[in-house]
Amino acid sequence: MLQLHNGEAQVMLDTPGFIEVTPTADIKVTRHGNRAKCLQRLIRMGLPVPQTVALPFRTVRDIADGKMPDLATLISLFDGQPMLLSLRSSSETADWGGPNAVLNIGMNDKAHAWLSNTLGDVAADKLYLRFIRSFAIDVMRLDEEPFLEAQTPLEAREIFEAEVDDPFPQAITDQLAAVLRSMARAWEGTSARLLRQAQGAPADAGLGLVVQRMAQGMGPGQSGSGIVQFVNPNTGEPQVTGRYLGQAMGRDALIDRDKAIYLTRDARGPSLQDLLPEVYRELLEVGEACRKRLREEMQVEFTIDQGRLAILDAVRCPREARASVAIAASLARDGVIPRSEALLRVAPGTLSHLLHRQIDPRAKRTVLVRGIAASPGAAVGKIVFDSAAAQASQSRDEACILVRRETTPDDVRGMHAAQAVLTERGGSTSHAAVIARGLGLPCVTGATGLRISGTKRRVTLPDGTILREGDEITVDGSSGEVLAGAVATQEPAIDGAFGDLMKWSDDVRDIGVRANADTVADATLSRTFGVDGIGLCRTEHMFFDSGRLTVMREMIFAETPSDRAAALERLLPMQRDDFTELFQLMSGLPVCIRLLDPPLHEFLPSENEGIRALAEALDRPLSEVKARIEAMQEYNPMLGMRGVRLGIALPEIYEMQARAIFEATVAARAAGAQTMPEIMIPLVTARREVELVKRRIDAIATAVREETGQDFDYRVGVMVETPRAALRAGEIAETSAFLSFGTNDLTQMTYGLSRDDAGRFMSAYVNEGVYPEDPFRTLDVDGVGELLLLGAQRGRKARANVTLALCGEHGGNPESIAFCRLAGFDYVSCSPFRVPVAKLAAAQATLLGGPKGGHPAD
Ligand code: PEP
Ligand code: MG
Repeated sequence: MLQLHNGEAQVMLDTPGFIEVTPTADIKVTRHGNRAKCLQRLIRMGLPVPQTVALPFRTVRDIADGKMPDLATLISLFDGQPMLLSLRSSSETADWGGPNAVLNIGMNDKAHAWLSNTLGDVAADKLYLRFIRSFAIDVMRLDEEPFLEAQTPLEAREIFEAEVDDPFPQAITDQLAAVLRSMARAWEGTSARLLRQAQGAPADAGLGLVVQRMAQGMGPGQSGSGIVQFVNPNTGEPQVTGRYLGQAMGRDALIDRDKAIYLTRDARGPSLQDLLPEVYRELLEVGEACRKRLREEMQVEFTIDQGRLAILDAVRCPREARASVAIAASLARDGVIPRSEALLRVAPGTLSHLLHRQIDPRAKRTVLVRGIAASPGAAVGKIVFDSAAAQASQSRDEACILVRRETTPDDVRGMHAAQAVLTERGGSTSHAAVIARGLGLPCVTGATGLRISGTKRRVTLPDGTILREGDEITVDGSSGEVLAGAVATQEPAIDGAFGDLMKWSDDVRDIGVRANADTVADATLSRTFGVDGIGLCRTEHMFFDSGRLTVMREMIFAETPSDRAAALERLLPMQRDDFTELFQLMSGLPVCIRLLDPPLHEFLPSENEGIRALAEALDRPLSEVKARIEAMQEYNPMLGMRGVRLGIALPEIYEMQARAIFEATVAARAAGAQTMPEIMIPLVTARREVELVKRRIDAIATAVREETGQDFDYRVGVMVETPRAALRAGEIAETSAFLSFGTNDLTQMTYGLSRDDAGRFMSAYVNEGVYPEDPFRTLDVDGVGELLLLGAQRGRKARANVTLALCGEHGGNPESIAFCRLAGFDYVSCSPFRVPVAKLAAAQATLLGGPKGGHPAD
């Protein structure tokens, strides 16, 4: 059938293409959308929902293509005088959005006259003016200004008619057709498509629509509308929150907050509870019923029509990270949902918001520059440009932000003293990022728009503004933004709900989660989060303490083996004490200690002041010390004299470390601890390296056993972080109790991409779709992942009980954890602050990921 409308030919559908929402109607989320289904549930619960009709995705698609359903039949389903309808979107998932609601479709001269008689002129004028405005602006896309200026329906109609050169449509079918067409087309528009795809919607996601009879919140007696939810949106604690506004509709009560009243009795002003106690009680019952039957905390839109309550809509109530955890846990505790479902309802990344201070979501943000969100949390402080200034700030009890071009081990002191770190260079696994995550310090790296001059002690922003030492900024490591001034922040929230989620994750997950922990503080925090052990203790971090750094430097500068032995002799008790403390703290759990890994020159000073101090300590001329430092520089230190190469070329260092580990094992046991030491060899490329180092470690163990008369067990394993080690994992596993994949270096070497420089171009690469994600953040399952699978297969073939682990930064990434689980890994290890995220992600992967180790073999 053809119908002419506004000069456009309209093809009508042969089948109705819509369905009334009744308790038994065949309404499906996948066909009619989430809102339609939710309304059906409310109707089934016996709530006073106005009559509703749902249009499925297919019909809306047809409407966008110019095929209109039979609107006369649709409208004939409704009763009531005057006939006024609302139209709302109903996408499959609420987060995918949809066009705004249009209310009071059917408003025309006749309805206006009727309403003038029943509700009075004021209400009738208000309704008509509002509808003309919304029809003109939202549906016909006319300029809004003249319509907002119009004071009466007549004025608005005249403006409309002048603009479109046609009378304002009076027939409800014409009005409804225009609104349907506009909504259907808006959904197909590019910007709407991009927005919903960013929320995870598939490219062909459909839109459903719901037509509902208007329950007027205007007229005589007590009429109005409001919004209510039953939990606090920030904390998730039970609390009736919302507003009610007399003589209003839709979400007016939230917009016109000055005139709206409270719901619950409140000393600050009038409330619905005082005004209409019965209706208030009914609302509380609605909240309770929704929670139980819809198994969710809902936000409910309601109307009071001459004292009678109508429920127009209910959506999952909006919530901050902390509230989402609290709500899921409380629903499970009350038996409304199973614990497994509570675990699946919280996105793992949400937990990191709870562990750190966050920017208050209500605060105003002025972004100065953007970089990589390298370590989550927010901090406010005054800019400092080096460690000395950071330490000086700390001694004055002044919060500071360490701003560096990039950080080196020399800056670790400053990082300890600062509240956050900002670097111009670097990516998500650069030095600053790794250390900051370990310290739980907010960090933004790769803020390439900055120009930092440490000597002039100033930083130039992308717009040319200059900030100086002492100026206050806010770093948001969760979003990668640096904000102007001191922005309000919120405290971390490690509460009962968080603890419940952690415990339930432990009950479910079938892959271990250990922590990368180097210090007592790290280990203590990890234990608080309930880790399964330490998966990576980077021993080099133990030498950056100022007392030890000098001895370390003396060791590096030693010219003869006996000089080196003397310096190592002094380092031994320090390391032994570190390990003893760590073993005691982690009693009952394995602790995996990595032998020294970084190039030695990283321990040497780079600035004049430090070089002079070293010259004094060594009692050598400054020029000689400078020359030695220069001589130790390498063209490509990340591929140079580091890792196991140190162990082969300068075996005394690893021998000292092995002795410290074994002596600490004996000491910790004597103090009552159950120790399970593991020794890990870094940057291995060949079986022979492992054989040589392991032989020496075993010899030291024998010596310590003899000297102390104590027996102990230990395991020696390998860090698989070079592509060759992954490929040769079979023969390497023959002498290794475990293979722990160091995916930071493995990613760097597989891609040939520097961890420290990738930040410069990574965003361009991701934006251009060269890489789907930053591979230092999310494991590249195609390339690096293939090496992991190969290494795991070959390792397990050679030694069936070899422990498989991942200890790069990917250990805290949910997708990477799911990959490791499917590859049959025993555990992942990540920064202490990522442990809760990893545990929840591991539980989710166990619940959803199919059989462990079930990765399809190639
Ligand atoms: C790695 O390379 O993945 C790793 C864990 O070691 P590091 O980050 O200390 O090089
Ligand atoms: Mg490494």
